[in-house]
Amino acid sequence: MNFLPVLLELQAIHDNLTIIQRDLSSFPPEMAKLDTDLKTLVRKVEGLSKNLEESRTNQAALSKDLIQAQKLEDLARTALKNSTQKIQYTAAIRELDERERQKSAFAKPLKDVETRIQSMEIELAECTALRDQTKEEFEEIHRIFMAEHENQVLAREKALARKVELEAKLEPVELGRFNRLIVGRHGRAVVIVENGTCTGCRTKLRGPLLAQLREKSILNCESCSRILYSPAKV
Ligand SMILES: [Zn+2]
Repeated sequence: MNFLPVLLELQAIHDNLTIIQRDLSSFPPEMAKLDTDLKTLVRKVEGLSKNLEESRTNQAALSKDLIQAQKLEDLARTALKNSTQKIQYTAAIRELDERERQKSAFAKPLKDVETRIQSMEIELAECTALRDQTKEEFEEIHRIFMAEHENQVLAREKALARKVELEAKLEPVELGRFNRLIVGRHGRAVVIVENGTCTGCRTKLRGPLLAQLREKSILNCESCSRILYSPAKV
């Protein structure tokens, strides 16, 4: 079966969809600003949430360490109370000092992280509220914008439906190759051969390839891999 008409129509649909997409994303200045602001806020909320989560993990670890240090300090204090001899007492005092020092080594950073978490929670709440508000504003203007571009919206729906129909006519391998070329060759996957030259990459085709092209309907360019066809085969 000759897939050339299918491939050519599919390529035209890709072109069309690119144009429609460009129209549907050329926002007026006010809307473009909201869109940028929204994207910035979304990233900021994500970043803050991630930092907050890390700080909470850190807080949990420090709390655990602190509880453990407190237990050791309590033990040292009990040992001090129970010490009867002077030598025992001195050692117990030293032990308690050491345990207290260890506890404060966890307590200070824990307090810091807790303070940080508090301010991060406030910032995150503010940022989230602003993001939601901006999102709402953007969506409202976007709805109006899309209503004003109803023709493009309908054309996109139609083009997408036709794209599905056409894609179903191709073998998956062939479709995969075509799609890779569409992306890799900026929408020019299928090109015509003019004067024995690939119009995609301007490479002159070798004689045998040209002969093959006359026999077969489509071939791939040896230089740029694009799908080639000769004018006579359209
Ligand atoms: Zn080429």
